[in-house]
Amino acid sequence: MYDVVIVGGGIVGLASAYKISHQHPDLKVLVLEKEETLAAHQTGRNSGVIHSGIYYKPGTYKAKNCVEGRRELVAFAKTHHIPHDICGKVIVATDAKELPVMDKIFNNGIQNGVEGIEKIDAAKITELEPACRGIAGLWVPCTGIIDYVATSEKLAELIQSRPQNQVMNGYEVLDFVKEGDLTHVITSKGNFKTRYLICCAGLQSDRIAKKDGMEPGMKVVGFRGDYYELSEQGMSKVKNLIYPVPNPEFPFLGVHFTRMIQGGVECGPNAVFVFKREGYGKTDFSFTDTWDALSYLGTWKLFYKHWRFGLDEYRRAFSKRLFLSRLQRLIPELRMEDIEPGRAGVRAMALDPHGDMIDDFKIVKSGNAIHILNAPSPAATAALAIGKAVEEMAREQFFLS
Ligand SMILES: Cc1cc2nc3c(=O)[nH]c(=O)nc-3n(C[C@H](O)[C@H](O)[C@H](O)COP(=O)(O)OP(=O)(O)OC[C@H]3O[C@@H](n4cnc5c(N)ncnc54)[C@H](O)[C@@H]3O)c2cc1C
Repeated sequence: MYDVVIVGGGIVGLASAYKISHQHPDLKVLVLEKEETLAAHQTGRNSGVIHSGIYYKPGTYKAKNCVEGRRELVAFAKTHHIPHDICGKVIVATDAKELPVMDKIFNNGIQNGVEGIEKIDAAKITELEPACRGIAGLWVPCTGIIDYVATSEKLAELIQSRPQNQVMNGYEVLDFVKEGDLTHVITSKGNFKTRYLICCAGLQSDRIAKKDGMEPGMKVVGFRGDYYELSEQGMSKVKNLIYPVPNPEFPFLGVHFTRMIQGGVECGPNAVFVFKREGYGKTDFSFTDTWDALSYLGTWKLFYKHWRFGLDEYRRAFSKRLFLSRLQRLIPELRMEDIEPGRAGVRAMALDPHGDMIDDFKIVKSGNAIHILNAPSPAATAALAIGKAVEEMAREQFFLS
């Protein structure tokens, strides 16, 4: 019997459990993760960037939680000796058509309270990143890199520092059965009773919400992001983080160069529709996931609206030459031998029935449960702020003292 069961051992579930156990030390909290390790999906397969908050529309949950979450994450990393580096990044415009979008991003950054951002010229871009070429750019000094898996493991350790709490890996939540005010959580390895439920299931968030009797009003579709790694000789061409000006029609930041905290430099990710939500190989397929996505009208509306983008991303996923030509927009001297195939991650993209991608974080209350339905990038950066929002919601919804 637990007070709060949290489904999902990614960074959002763990940060929510951490905030609740910290604010309510008498509650008995259990985190259930289906994989044998924490952070096995989006959290452990992302770019490892601490985002500044510059991109997001002022007033959105993303804007607020990214800036607050970043500050708290950096303080947390310092306190708990988690590998990180506030190395700054450049956002580079390579075409005059991108300048209005770049200006908009700069203004968003100012309104969102992002510290130290500057407009820079072509000479300053090459001073910061000697191999990079652009016509103008933004310098964002408070962006950084971090180990999100180590952050997640530290959160789990702190949650379990109170002896009544547990984080259990290898427990897949299969169903929920309500009994009065309680919920029975049915898992692959046994059942647990809880007074309150908080679901942070990432790529499975819509399915878990349905199992709890909720109609989420959206569907998760997966978009795989493939990365290349810079080879030994390519590595000298990037110092820190180099990003393009993103296409404002999509919630993706564009293929970028990222120095990783564990060493090495990655470039990616692209954004390819997947036929398996947790499929990281280029040809992975799941009948259930494919049927689920293709029987949803929203998916077809998305395809109809963005078929050209989808096709281009697909071609790039199978062609190193096309991937390289995208990277050469930022670093013209990059060569085929400078990049080697790397890992992949899948983003959970929440689609509404009209085929529109839900851009902002979406957290919904329902009876004795809270469902985090949509926590896309920068939710890793923002996790501690999201956790705080979930704790405040839980206090109100569950009448916690
Ligand atoms: C390619 C890529 C690059 C990104 N880059 C960045 C970045 O640089 N910076 C940034 O801030 N954000 C980035 N993001 C976004 C960020 O990684 C995610 O927003 C964040 O990790 C979401 O965390 P989560 O806990 O909600 O999801 P997840 O990390 O996916 O965790 C959900 C967990 O729930 C578990 N689960 C699901 N179903 C069940 C079940 N039935 N029973 C038990 N457990 C279950 C899963 O196994 C999983 O561990 C990126 C994402 C991707 C995919």
